[in-house]
Parts: sequence; structure tokens; C-alpha cells
Amino acid sequence: MLVGYRATLDSLKCDIYAAAVRTLANALVEELRAALGADAVIAEPHQLVVYECDAYTLERHLPDAVVLPRSTDEVVTAVRIAARHQRAIIPRGAGTSLSGAVLAVDGGVVIGTARMNRVLEVDARNRRALVEAGCVNADISAAARPYGLHFAPDPSSQGACTVGGNVAMNSGGPHTLKYGVTTNHVLGLELVLPDGEVVWLGATRESGDDVEGYDLRGVVVGSEGMFGVVTRVLVKLVPVPPAWRTMLAIFPGVDEASRAVSAIIAAGIVPAALEMMDQLITQAVEEAYRFGFPSDAGAVLIIELDGLEAGLERQAERVRTLCREHGAREVRHARTEGERAELWKCRKRAFGAIGRLSPSFLTQDGVVPRSALPEIMRHIRAVSEKYGLRIPNVFHAGDGNIHPLVLFDERDPDQVRRAVAAGNEILEHCLALGGSVTGEHGIGVEKIDFMERQFRTADLEAMRAVRRVFDPVGRCNPHKMFPGSKRCADFQVRKQAAA
Ligand SMILES: Cc1cc2nc3c(=O)[nH]c(=O)nc-3n(C[C@H](O)[C@H](O)[C@H](O)COP(=O)(O)OP(=O)(O)OC[C@H]3O[C@@H](n4cnc5c(N)ncnc54)[C@H](O)[C@@H]3O)c2cc1C
Repeated sequence: MLVGYRATLDSLKCDIYAAAVRTLANALVEELRAALGADAVIAEPHQLVVYECDAYTLERHLPDAVVLPRSTDEVVTAVRIAARHQRAIIPRGAGTSLSGAVLAVDGGVVIGTARMNRVLEVDARNRRALVEAGCVNADISAAARPYGLHFAPDPSSQGACTVGGNVAMNSGGPHTLKYGVTTNHVLGLELVLPDGEVVWLGATRESGDDVEGYDLRGVVVGSEGMFGVVTRVLVKLVPVPPAWRTMLAIFPGVDEASRAVSAIIAAGIVPAALEMMDQLITQAVEEAYRFGFPSDAGAVLIIELDGLEAGLERQAERVRTLCREHGAREVRHARTEGERAELWKCRKRAFGAIGRLSPSFLTQDGVVPRSALPEIMRHIRAVSEKYGLRIPNVFHAGDGNIHPLVLFDERDPDQVRRAVAAGNEILEHCLALGGSVTGEHGIGVEKIDFMERQFRTADLEAMRAVRRVFDPVGRCNPHKMFPGSKRCADFQVRKQAAA
């Protein structure tokens, strides 16, 4: 009798709480609509579903609202309204993050930059461009190309991801082996702090590239959207290389290809890009795009050299020799710009080809010393057998930055459990080999549990202290990166089951 009474009381309390939350959310949405216009605010549950996750689909949370501002002023307005209602703000670009970096874990207001997508200025003389944060990465290079310039960071998602997302994740790409990652190409940025104050950090349109004082711009790059909303970015442009040699080296297996990678770097050659695809992904890519990859290749390397024409052929010959010495049975060349573009299209769309192999996949992002590539590849094969899941690999071999793609079916809880466990075991091994649990995809919610293994408590506290400088109350993109964050109960259950 007493038990039944308590249950009724608990359920009544839940209903009252839910009603109160709905009322508060309605007031928030009404204020946002009044300030920004109805077309700038999304709050219908069936529309919010689009924003419940990013490209890491294992965890999902509905925000209270999504706003799509058109200017820095509108971002400030949205941020201030969210602060008044004590709701979190979650900056969002294209939502291509692979680590659950834009989840509204405890609700809140997603601030999407889709309508702030312009290249505002290309300053060819000073090799810079001023762009809005929602500008798609590839659009910057498209705008700079008439001046013989481009924006070097080229994530494989560059046709969709935004420069704001690149800044937040300090993104890399195939060509960042030679040219450096996003942080090496951001000169300055405008940031709306979580209390609505607007600051400009780093170089300005009027200044030189170097500025005095602390490099706060450098601190914001890689802060995973937890310091405020980036609204404009002053990026560095670099000349389009005058000449290139793009090669496809075909190996019997990943061990031989990995050894060739180490040999090329050890020879003092820094290719613009040095990418590896193993057999499973090569076969999927070939089936999808019909490039002419041999289906019996154990692994292929895509190697690009660029720079001045003088000396380039000699370097290419050296690379060919090293590949052959390490077991390559064939080294092909892109003969025309068209062939080169086709090859890169295949590499950059490799994740897309996975749809032919599996309904779901989990993209891991670990780093190992280059010399440990054969060892981590062997470990991935062992993990694949242990959990009975296929794990193709396509990755930035020159950086030792691996991307094992754990294939599974999200509709089968046992496969989900095995996929999470397999991914964790691979990352554990990266740490054991002296590497890291992320090279470029960030921590998000996905890798929170690894932070205490990778960093000392004092290091984590120092990071939290830096964050408090920008966001004293932890309003911006909360529940990411730091252990102890609130997590979705369902996800915790899955993780415990996986352990
Ligand atoms: C097929 C595929 C290939 C990929 N290849 C690569 C690759 O080669 N290299 C690589 O590094 N990554 C890669 N990624 C991951 C992803 O594309 C990058 O992390 C990218 O930079 C995310 O940009 P986005 O605009 O989609 O950001 P989102 O996913 O929307 O957000 C990512 C993070 O940035 C924050 N953020 C976004 N905009 C802002 C802003 N204006 N102000 C403050 N914070 C902001 C968010 O809060 C979140 O923490 C790939 C992803 C996919 C799906």
C-alpha cells in the first residue's frame, strides 16, 4: 500500500517537474523568437531531431532550441537570452564531428552557424582571408584560388565542415603532414564569450601576422567549443604548389606499407600527404567509385610530393625506390590534374564508401609513433577477431594518426557493446604504445573516460582553470572533455556492459 502511494507521489513529482521544464523552455523559445525572428529559431521536436547528435551517433540528446543567427550581434543576443534562462549554449557548425562534440547533453540552446557562411574578404597581397565561422572549409580555397592561394587544412569532410568547427577541433587533413593543422593557419578570431561579451584575439585585418602578449588565439583553437562562439576568423592563405607528384603505391599488406612510411620520413622527405588504406576499405572504395584500385592489394599508400618542379622528380624517384624496397609491387602515377583529383576524391570519400559494408560504423582516432604503425595494425586485426567485427582502416599514416572504422549494426545491442569495447581496446593500446587517444577528432563525450588515463589530475585541473577564464560558470558546450561530466544514463549502461 505504502509502496503504491510512494510510486504515485514520485510520478506526480515527475509530471510537475516536466511541466515546469516545458514552461521554462517555452518562455526561452518565445524570447528567442521575439528577438531573432521566428525563422531563426527551431523548437519543434520533429525538427530538433536533426540536431540530436553529430557524426558520432551512439549518443543523442535533444536541445531545447536551435538558433540560426545571421551576425555576431545576433549570436550575442542568443547567448544573453540563454544566460538569462540559465541554459547551456552549444556552438554548432556542420555537425560532422566524430566524437559527440555538439551534443546538448542536458538540453540548452544550439547556436548553429549555417547562415554565417560568407568569405568576407580575400586579401591576396597579405595572403589572408576574413571569413564567417560557418564558412565551409572548401569554400575558402575556392575563393582564394583565383589568386593562386588556398587554405591548407583539408579535413576529408572539407566539403561540409565549417571553419568554426575546424578551429574548435584544431582539425587536420591529408595535407597537414607538411603544412600543419588549423592552428598553424589561424591568425586571429572573433569570439562571443558565454556572457555575451565580444572579443577579438590574435592578429587583426590591420595588424601584422604576429601580435604581442599571450597567444589567446592559440588557446581557443582546439578548445572544442567550450570557450564561446567563434563568429569570424582571419585565416592564413598559402600559395597553391606549382608542381606535384601524386603516387599510388600498392603493397601486399599493411606491415610492408607501414615500413615504407617510416622509411620515407627517415630519408628526410616530407611528403605533402602520406595516406594509407587497407584492403577492406580499398575494396569498398573501388566498388563505390570505380577508380581502378586492385582488389587484391593488402594496402595502398597515396603519396603526394609538392613544391617547385626542380628536384621534385628526383624526390619522387627516391620514394618509388623506398616503396619497392619495402615490398610495393607497383607504384602508379597520376598523369593529369584530373587523375590526381579522382584519386583524392576516392580517399576523401572513403568513409562514405563504408555504407556499402555496414549500416553503422564507429570512427576511432588514435595516434601512435610512426614506427609503431605495424604493431597497432596487428593489434587492430586481433581486436577485430576477438570481437567478431570488421575493422577497415584509412588514415593519415605520415602523422601516425590512425582511423580504424569499427563496423557494426546499431540496431543490435550486442554489436553496439562489442563495437564500443573494440574501439576502447584499440585506444588503450595507442596509449600503451606512447600515443594519444585523439589526433584530430577531439574528445567530445566519446573519450571523456580516457582523459584521466592520458593526463595527470594536475594537468586536468590546469585545463579546467584555463576554461574558467573564458567561461567561469561552464555554460558553453558543457559535459564534454572533462571526466565527471553528466552522461546519458542509457549510454552509461552501454559502456558498463561493454566493460
Ligand atoms: C567523413 C568525415 C571525414 C572527416 N575527416 C576529418 C579529417 O580528415 N580531419 C579532421 O580533423 N577531422 C575530420 N572529420 C571530423 C570533422 O569533420 C571535423 O572535426 C570538423 O572540423 C568539424 O567541423 P563542423 O563544422 O562539422 O563542426 P561541428 O561538428 O558542428 O562541431 C565540432 C566542434 O566544434 C564546435 N564548434 C563548431 N562551430 C563553432 C563555432 N563557431 N564556435 C565555437 N565552437 C564551434 C562545436 O561545439 C563542437 O565542439 C571528419 C568527419 C567526417 C564525418
